[in-house]
Amino acid sequence: MSEPTLFPAQLSARHLTRHFTTRVPGRFLTAKRVVRAVEDVSLDLFEGHVTAVVGESGSGKSVLARMLARIVTPTSGELVLEGTPIPVRSKRTLDYAAKVQLVLQDPYASINPVHRIRHSLERPLLIHGANNGEVETLAKAALSRVSLDPPERFVDRYPHELSGGQLQRVSIARALCVKPDVLLADEPISMLDVSVRLGILNLLRGLCDDERLAILYITHDIASARYIADETIVMYAGQIVERSRGTALVDDPTHPYTQLLISSVPDPSDPTSQDSRRIEHATFEVAQVGCRFAPRCPFAMDVCRTDDPPNFMVGEGHTSHCWLHASEPEAAVEVAPPTRRREGEPTKT
Ligand code: SF4
Repeated sequence: MSEPTLFPAQLSARHLTRHFTTRVPGRFLTAKRVVRAVEDVSLDLFEGHVTAVVGESGSGKSVLARMLARIVTPTSGELVLEGTPIPVRSKRTLDYAAKVQLVLQDPYASINPVHRIRHSLERPLLIHGANNGEVETLAKAALSRVSLDPPERFVDRYPHELSGGQLQRVSIARALCVKPDVLLADEPISMLDVSVRLGILNLLRGLCDDERLAILYITHDIASARYIADETIVMYAGQIVERSRGTALVDDPTHPYTQLLISSVPDPSDPTSQDSRRIEHATFEVAQVGCRFAPRCPFAMDVCRTDDPPNFMVGEGHTSHCWLHASEPEAAVEVAPPTRRREGEPTKT
């Protein structure tokens, strides 16, 4: 896996926040409740670099991806695309849509079932300005990039004629058609058979290494994040609770929630392990004040119930959002750990 590069980040998010207001019916009146889906998230996506965001359902990772794709408008925060600040409340432009593409979890829902694969690939090309004479060639080239060879075998098929893995490759090919710099992959393997997951992960890693794409890989499976990612970020209840470069976070987790996530990975040698751990996951409760993980945390202290912890540096490029590290010698840090360019690393042109 490659070292992260510093300049330029293809896409940066600064203090991205999204709150939703819901209505809770009471006995006489309807009350309003604010759901803090994403809170103060900052990250950088670099070319040739996979950033994994890990968390369980409700952690805000998909809302984060949709804010980065500009499908969901942030409540506050900033986006910077290739050094240019993006007015987050303005309409998404075609240029932004071409540069930042989103691949969704369920390929059966994201590819139109009534059209041939050709239609799903050629339509975005036409929308983004390709002419009629070249779309077929470009569509077939996109299929080849995701290893659906020969493309003639797939281009005139209907979605129901393909397997889940093949259809997810079509979904990725559709995203690649418009030559994006950033690929946001929202749980791209979670709906697939275990036997084809590795193929999709290797495809994403190959696109990152060979074509210098910046990839955000969203998952609830921390083992797959360890396999593919250059940087791993763990989210809980809308906040980043731990992040690290390389595999440090998985090999030496410092936040109690990350430790819980890792303990939930099924142990093939212990058939009872998965069931008992699932019960822990069922008690999803979020504190409104202090550390959001406090109701589930076996190490919760008084300060945890009153004050939200800052991010503490617990290793090189490794931060933890937990009061347990308040005595660490390093000072608390505010945002992402610094990244650096690998010597001699070519830049994308
Ligand atoms: Fe647990 Fe406190 Fe750390 Fe939160 S800040 S994870 S409650 S020890």
